[in-house]
Amino acid sequence: MKAEGKSISDRIWFGYGLAIVAVAVAALVRLAFDPWVPGRGYFLFFGVAVLATGAFAGRGPALLSAVASIAAVRALGWFPEPLWSPVLFVFVLASGLTIWVTGHVRSLYLKAIESEQRAELRAARADQLAEELNLLIDGASGYGIYMLDPDGNVTIWNKAAERLLGWNEAEVVGRHYGLFFPEETVAAGRPQLDLARARKEGRLEKEDWRVRKNGSEFLAHITVTALHDKRGKLKGFGKVIRDVTEQRAAEQKLAASASHLRSILATVPDAMVVINETGKILWFSAAAERLFGFTEAEVIGLDVSCLMPPHDSERHGDYIRHHIATGEKRIIGIGRTVNARRRDGSLFPIELAVGEAISDGARVFTGFIRDLTEKQAAEHRVNELRSELVHAGRVSVMGTMASTLAHELNQPITAVATFVRGVQKLLHEEGAGNRDMIERGLDGAYEEVLRAGGIIRRLREFVARGDMEKTVEDLVTLVDEASKLALIDAREKGIRAQFEVDRAVRLVLVDKIQIQQVLINLMRNAMEAMGQSAVRLLTVSSKSDEGGYVRVTVADTGPGVAPEIAENLFRAFNSTKCDGLGLGLSICRTIVEANGGRIWMEQRPEGGARFHFTLVRADREMPE
Ligand code: ADP
Repeated sequence: MKAEGKSISDRIWFGYGLAIVAVAVAALVRLAFDPWVPGRGYFLFFGVAVLATGAFAGRGPALLSAVASIAAVRALGWFPEPLWSPVLFVFVLASGLTIWVTGHVRSLYLKAIESEQRAELRAARADQLAEELNLLIDGASGYGIYMLDPDGNVTIWNKAAERLLGWNEAEVVGRHYGLFFPEETVAAGRPQLDLARARKEGRLEKEDWRVRKNGSEFLAHITVTALHDKRGKLKGFGKVIRDVTEQRAAEQKLAASASHLRSILATVPDAMVVINETGKILWFSAAAERLFGFTEAEVIGLDVSCLMPPHDSERHGDYIRHHIATGEKRIIGIGRTVNARRRDGSLFPIELAVGEAISDGARVFTGFIRDLTEKQAAEHRVNELRSELVHAGRVSVMGTMASTLAHELNQPITAVATFVRGVQKLLHEEGAGNRDMIERGLDGAYEEVLRAGGIIRRLREFVARGDMEKTVEDLVTLVDEASKLALIDAREKGIRAQFEVDRAVRLVLVDKIQIQQVLINLMRNAMEAMGQSAVRLLTVSSKSDEGGYVRVTVADTGPGVAPEIAENLFRAFNSTKCDGLGLGLSICRTIVEANGGRIWMEQRPEGGARFHFTLVRADREMPE
């Protein structure tokens, strides 16, 4: 504003100064030319001054110069006539005309200058814009932008296209764009077909292979736009091209790793169910499909309560809301045994562990489900096996019990004989009080017969379940199974067990259940013996023995066998325990001997007992 104001005042000063100077110059020239200028020719000079002022400084200064001219001719005495003389009138008229014409011409001139300046400014701005646009297009890294004429010849080529395709502007402008197509697609007429499609549809977008100058191919994302002028005539095509080879490769890799992850999850034996905050199922693994009998497609979007028994399903929504509101974890990260519901409505036990995660900003819960049906069945089988072993123990005790019971039966039978003989005697004597005594004698005999019957019944129960059955067994498996039962509470009792089974001699010919009973007896005895010991180490070992036997040893770090019973250790009813029957080791001996082996004990010099027994090797006859 200030600069503009200054230039306006400068122009005013210049204009009016010019008016005065022009008049002064006219007066001087007139004086110089005085001898040659006749009469009132001086007005001619002043007329030029007015014209010059009007042309260079505009109407205002020109008016001033006209007035100043009149004043000058008067002051210089060249015009003594009165002011209304026709000469002055002509001068004023001519000056007025000059002022008007020069003013008009000048304003036209100024306008012309102004519009020229404006055009220059616009052209400069257009140049700058074009330059910026070029920079922008050239700088669009990864995007090649170029133009084609209606026939497909390159007309405009940018730097990015050069970087992408390898050709420079001089090499490609004017050439057909089929240059960038693989040979076989050119032969198939693809370049022309693409342009025809773009022309028809206005725009074409696709992914296709393109060739660089060096012959290498890349996967390109291509956009072709048909360009028309105002009258709708096709001017050419704009092409934007981008190399997407790596992007597609990365996407494929991502998809492959996602499907890999999916395939891994599909093979995880535990079933997996993913739900969102509202309990809707988002993901259902292949194992879950097998477990629940639903397909993934059936349950996606359903509420997870459809997999729960009615009681739990009613409350589940509340559980989730409570967790979200309070953050309190009742099952998350803990894991629990609960019941689940199959598609057919049947319930089954599961172990459920729930994990929580934020995925894409949303909270999801993942349930890992392990079917406990089999585990419970296995536990049931173990219990059965245990009872079988107990039964086997009873059978094996038969031998020992037979002699014991024979002794026990002897008593009531002798008593019965005595009573019968007494009653017989009384019948012969026929005394007065005999009848009472006969009755008491018969009662006594009856009682004893019942007792004997009870003993026989018990014996029958012992032997009721069959004979010994010898089979070829793997000693490793046999020891393994027996120790699972025997060591059930070993950890609580602080007992450590170690196994040194010789894998070279594994096969034995035994009644498996009976030998397991022996092992269990020996291991339980050892564990009981170590109850008060500082070191509690139980060792079960096996090694080859002479004569085609395997020797199995159960050793402990207890106090050793008490000397008073050591001698008759394997006889029945030999026990140091207040609740012991003293039958275990005698049963063991019966079994081991029935299986063709022998059993013995040795005290360990460092303390503790070592029980050995031998078993018949089967690997000679039947190799592994
Ligand atoms: P019970 O265990 O009912 O007493 P057993 O015949 O199994 O009958 O054992 C007889 C006795 O042998 C036991 O009372 C115990 O005194 C002794 N005994 C058995 N095994 C060991 C052992 N490993 N260490 C010390 N004493 C043992």
